[in-house]
Amino acid sequence: MGVDGFGRRIDYLRISVTDRCNLRCVYCMPEEGVPWKDADEMLSFEEIERFAAAAVAEGISKIRLTGGEPLVRKGIVEHIARLRALTGIDAIALTTNATLLPKMAADLHAAGLERVNISLDSLDPEVFAQVTRGGRLEDALAGIDAAFEVGMHPVKINVVVVRRLEQDLVSFAKLTMDRPVHIRFIEYMPVGGEDEPAPGGACSSESAAAGWTEEDSVPADEILARLVVEGAAAGLGALGPVAKDDAPGGWGPARYYRFDNALGTVGVISPLSHHFCGECNRLRLTADGKLRMCLFSDEELDARTVLREGTDEDVRALIRQALALKPESHNMRVGTIRRMSQIGG
Ligand code: SAM
Repeated sequence: MGVDGFGRRIDYLRISVTDRCNLRCVYCMPEEGVPWKDADEMLSFEEIERFAAAAVAEGISKIRLTGGEPLVRKGIVEHIARLRALTGIDAIALTTNATLLPKMAADLHAAGLERVNISLDSLDPEVFAQVTRGGRLEDALAGIDAAFEVGMHPVKINVVVVRRLEQDLVSFAKLTMDRPVHIRFIEYMPVGGEDEPAPGGACSSESAAAGWTEEDSVPADEILARLVVEGAAAGLGALGPVAKDDAPGGWGPARYYRFDNALGTVGVISPLSHHFCGECNRLRLTADGKLRMCLFSDEELDARTVLREGTDEDVRALIRQALALKPESHNMRVGTIRRMSQIGG
């Protein structure tokens, strides 16, 4: 069992399989001129699988693939099947923008992918196109349908709430009434692409270019208060908390609620207003093979070199070193040199 220096059980590994994406969300990636890593800087699938096997031996039992957009990497379906076959893995999950799910969901499910988190920040086609810089809402919605059709479970939708976008939160809540979909509203984090990350929060160059500031981060309590009032006004009934045992099998820190008679839930994830470092259960591996102990810390260990030059025991020792180095808290230091697309969210 992997336990870190503060007694937290670390059983969840997020693996970014690519820094490339077929969308260009304004808070995540520049519109153009992204300096892609060279192919030999990226971990091969074989290297990722070797790392994953070592991680499982050190107590990891849950793996999530992310990116960039993980579905743009060639061979991802077979990679998932090989990861799923590792003894000791409870489940494989995927975080995706869903636009490629209509053609890939059946194969992914057959390969052993059950859990999918879909990032979707607006149900208004124009706002969606604005945030993603040209994405088509209908493609993402078709991806959600495809996930349900092939039987993925749970299907969660992640909505980053940004004040100036004036998103209609109730339009998302309505989706929970007749499908077991779980909507998670996430506080926008002003991070990424900083040369000199500043304590206390600074804007990423991309979202700053879009005019977004720290003020655009909407605290989870405010999101919940709005859902209560706007949900009741829209006839969704009362919003009540969902007991932990009844929550949709989360690996992370979301708090879940349900409208009367809804099949799905709405939840909030509050990395800024109520940080949950005490419950942190994860490590992150970037597509270029750096092991990160905390989303908000730029301290990284070089797993790529160890994978290329060391033994399996060396890889396991690196993971133990990461557990020992994992900080107790991000201490509200919000700011990273890497962009989210280069970490995996
Ligand atoms: N392409 C995939 C997707 O769209 O889900 C996976 C990668 S994306 C970097 C993972 C998640 O990070 C998305 O849900 C995205 O909304 C979130 N994210 C990126 N930048 C963020 C920010 N500044 N604040 C909050 N969430 C962010």
